[in-house]
Amino acid sequence: MARVVRTVIVRSIKLPRKVFRVFVELEGMYRNMVEQLTMYAVRSKVKSFTKLKVLKYREMRSLYPQLPSHYVYTACQDTSTRAKSFLRLKKLGLAKRDYPEVKRISIWLNDHLWKPNGFILIKIATHRGWVTVEFKSHKQYWKYINREWKLVSEAKIKLDKRNRQLIIYLTFVKEVKKFKSIGYPPVDVNENNITMLVDEVAFLFETDMVRIILGYYYRKKRIQERYDKLYGVKSRIKRKALRKLKERKKKLDIKWKIANTIVKTAYEKQYAIVLEKLSKRVANNMIKRIKDKQLRHRIFQASFRGIQRAIEEKAREHGVPVIYVNPRNTSKLCPIHNVPINYNNGSRIGKCSKAYELWHRDVVACWNLLLKALWGDGSLAPSLVGLNIDVRLIPLASKATHDPIGIPKSLWARWNSLGATMNLYKMIGMTT
Ligand SMILES: [Zn+2]
Repeated sequence: MARVVRTVIVRSIKLPRKVFRVFVELEGMYRNMVEQLTMYAVRSKVKSFTKLKVLKYREMRSLYPQLPSHYVYTACQDTSTRAKSFLRLKKLGLAKRDYPEVKRISIWLNDHLWKPNGFILIKIATHRGWVTVEFKSHKQYWKYINREWKLVSEAKIKLDKRNRQLIIYLTFVKEVKKFKSIGYPPVDVNENNITMLVDEVAFLFETDMVRIILGYYYRKKRIQERYDKLYGVKSRIKRKALRKLKERKKKLDIKWKIANTIVKTAYEKQYAIVLEKLSKRVANNMIKRIKDKQLRHRIFQASFRGIQRAIEEKAREHGVPVIYVNPRNTSKLCPIHNVPINYNNGSRIGKCSKAYELWHRDVVACWNLLLKALWGDGSLAPSLVGLNIDVRLIPLASKATHDPIGIPKSLWARWNSLGATMNLYKMIGMTT
C-alpha cells in the first residue's frame, strides 16, 4: 500500500468586508505568534513541534486568550518546519540573516479549527466564533470528491487582500494498492515523440516538444527585446505580455495528457511501466546541438524529465509499478541478433548488421528496454516466473519492418487510454 497525497486549491467567494476583516485580524495574530515562536525556536535551537508546544503554550495562550487554543498548536507546527529549514540552511552557510524572515503566511488549520460543511462550505474557528465561508468549486475539486480520495483534516488558508478572498488549500489522500504486473510495456521518451510497446505493437505518440519549446523561447525573446526597447526593462506591459504567453503554454501542457494515456493503458492491462533511468548525460547527448545551456536544460526538463515525472506521478496515483532500466545502448543493438544496427545519416530507420532486417530506432529502444526489464537489469528486478510471453520469439514472429504506429498529437490528445481506441490503428491504415 502506498499513500498518495494531493493538494487542491479553491478560492472563496468575495467576502463581505466585515467577514474578511475577521480573517485579517486572525492572520495578524497568527503571524505574530509564528514570528515570536520562530525567533525563539532559532535562538534556542528547538526544532521539535512537541517541545516547542510544551515550552511556549502558556505564553502564547495568554497573549491571545480570545483565539481558539488550537491555533497555538498549528503555529507551533508551522514554526517547527520554518525553524528546521532555516537551521539547515544556516548549517550549510546559506542563510543570509541571523533569523528567518516570516514573509508569507498561510494559516494552518487542524481538525479543531475547521470543518467542511457540505460540499462547498467550510466552517473556520476564529476569535469571533465559527465563520462559514463559501468557496468556488471546480472540475478538479469534484474529481477528487467523486473518486476514492479522502479529505484530510489539515488545511491551510491564505488571504487574498486585493480580492477579499480566502485561498483554501485542501489536502486529499488515497491509499493505493500496487498490483502484481503481468506485463511490461516499455516507454521510450524522445525529444519529439514517446514510443510505447503494448502487446508487441509499438505506438509512437508525436509530441513535438522541442519545436514547441523552441517556439516559446524565441517568442519570449522577441517580446522581451521589443518591449525593452519601447518601455524599458522593467515595464508592466512587458510582464503582462509574458504572462499571457506562459498561460498559453500551460494550456498546451501535453505531458499530463500523454502520461494519462500511458498509465491508464498500463492500468487496464495490469502492466508495469518500464522507463529509462535518465542521467544528465542523456540530455547532453540528445540535444547537444543546442548551444544555449539554459535552453538545453529547459528542453531536457520538458521533454525527458518532465514527461517521466508526469508518468511516475500518475502511476503512483493508480498503483501502477514503474521499473527503471539502464538506457545504455538501447537504440544501438538489434534485440534479436545482439549486433549493432546501422543508421544512415541520422535516419530513424536502421538495418541490422547481421540479418539486415529494418528497425525503427524508437521501436528498437522499446524492445531493448523490455529485454532489460525481463532479464532483471532494472532497479526493481522482476522475475520471469509467471510471464506468459516468450521474449525470444516476439521480435522474430513479427513480419513487419518493426514500424511503430505513428499517432499525431491531434488524435491522442483526446484519448483516455489506448485500450478504448485499440481498433483505431485500423483507421490509420496500419496492419500488423
Ligand atoms: Zn537483427
